[in-house]
Amino acid sequence: MELWEMGIRAAQDGLAKGEFTATDLVKAIAARRAAEDGRIGAYLTFDEGGALRLAAENPKSVPIAVKDLINVKGQPCTCGSKILKGYVSPYDATVIANMKRNGFIPCGRVNMDEFAMGSSTENSALGVTRNPYDTERVPGGSSGGSAAAVGGNLAIAALGTDTGGSIRQPASFCNCYGLKPSYGRVSRYGVTAFASSLDQVGPMTKSVEDAAVLLGAIAGRDPMDGTTPDEPVPDYLKEIEGASLKGVRLGLPKEYFSVTGLDPEVKAVTDAAIDKCANAGAELVEVSLPHTDYAMSVYYIVAPAEASANLARFDGVRYGHRSAEAKDVYSLYVKSRSEGFGPEVKRRIIMGTYVLSSGYYDAYYGRAQKVRTLIKRDFDEVFARVDALLTPCAPTPAFRLGELQDPITMYLNDLFTIPSSLAGVCAASVPAGFTASAHLPVGVQFICGGFEESRLLRVSKAFEDLCS
Ligand code: GLN
Repeated sequence: MELWEMGIRAAQDGLAKGEFTATDLVKAIAARRAAEDGRIGAYLTFDEGGALRLAAENPKSVPIAVKDLINVKGQPCTCGSKILKGYVSPYDATVIANMKRNGFIPCGRVNMDEFAMGSSTENSALGVTRNPYDTERVPGGSSGGSAAAVGGNLAIAALGTDTGGSIRQPASFCNCYGLKPSYGRVSRYGVTAFASSLDQVGPMTKSVEDAAVLLGAIAGRDPMDGTTPDEPVPDYLKEIEGASLKGVRLGLPKEYFSVTGLDPEVKAVTDAAIDKCANAGAELVEVSLPHTDYAMSVYYIVAPAEASANLARFDGVRYGHRSAEAKDVYSLYVKSRSEGFGPEVKRRIIMGTYVLSSGYYDAYYGRAQKVRTLIKRDFDEVFARVDALLTPCAPTPAFRLGELQDPITMYLNDLFTIPSSLAGVCAASVPAGFTASAHLPVGVQFICGGFEESRLLRVSKAFEDLCS
């Protein structure tokens, strides 16, 4: 096996046996990127010098690609936006500090939709990323660079973030395992905020075991993020030993299977996955999440509202792009923001400002919060009856670059991932097969209750074993 083909477990194994060093791994990934990434465009920048320095200090560590909104000291952090061009992080995000302490090296910045708003990475202001399985198609988004890097063997593993599906949908499109942790499992300190009540960092990997290791390395209580509880982080790798689906109560939420936009080939892969689980001894239970229909509307009120507040800090004053045309404070704000932000980000800021404005706050934002509580309750009730849910991850396989022009059709990509984000529970996309016609990867989604990552990883591992 070439070094760049390895996942975390294989790399750690070789490092432990002294077969190669972290320096060899960094050089192998750098060379692979130089040879192949012209075709894919996963990376924005690669910090070979910095990574080699860290590798020399800790010769048993593994290089990891990092989504371009997570701060790594001394590296650029542009969030896929023109407004942060030239910005260099002055500090490490907690996930990066944790990762370094636990034997990982951040080696490069991978592309994303601007400020994580999108489902195809086409909203990046900094370049195109292509799907390694078909370069005419998108890698998904917003963590499209992370998924393309892992799926295209340009990285050993990557960190992504998920607000409404941005780890899971690209993982599904690029044949990776992608896990969105429960809200609060992983610190958000140093992660550029999109929607603070939803954002989570998570692993995107070549296997479930790799994700268990990487999640364990980043998760846990952080005094710098008050939403992280003092919940111990188990040894996830140990937790998944002997994983099996025997006797696991697997809920099939009926609302997820009656959707009109569900591609028949995705449905076929999902149905086959359900059969596999049943044959492996899982007990299938039809369940209902009655407020599913409202999740999309709630998300497109709550997320833009929070984004409009979070993005207010980009004002041309403290950091990032400052308009050369500004004549006074007002025009400094207006021109810097107009020039710096792309169209989707502007759309979200306008929507968010609208739903928070005094005349509409109760009708939109206030009501959306109430419905969010109902959605959360649906999940609480269901998880009293079943161990995990199995659903499609994305309604379609990877679509063509430029194919989805209308924002609403783009938003519909996250139909199956948004409800669990609103509920704050954990969920993952596991590679489940390929479409019959174009041989594109398809993932299925498993969802477990809050802080049930061990269970989620166990179910994922058992399913992964059935597919290999
Ligand atoms: N596609 C969704 C959006 O654009 C989700 C993005 C995400 O999870 N960051 O908001």
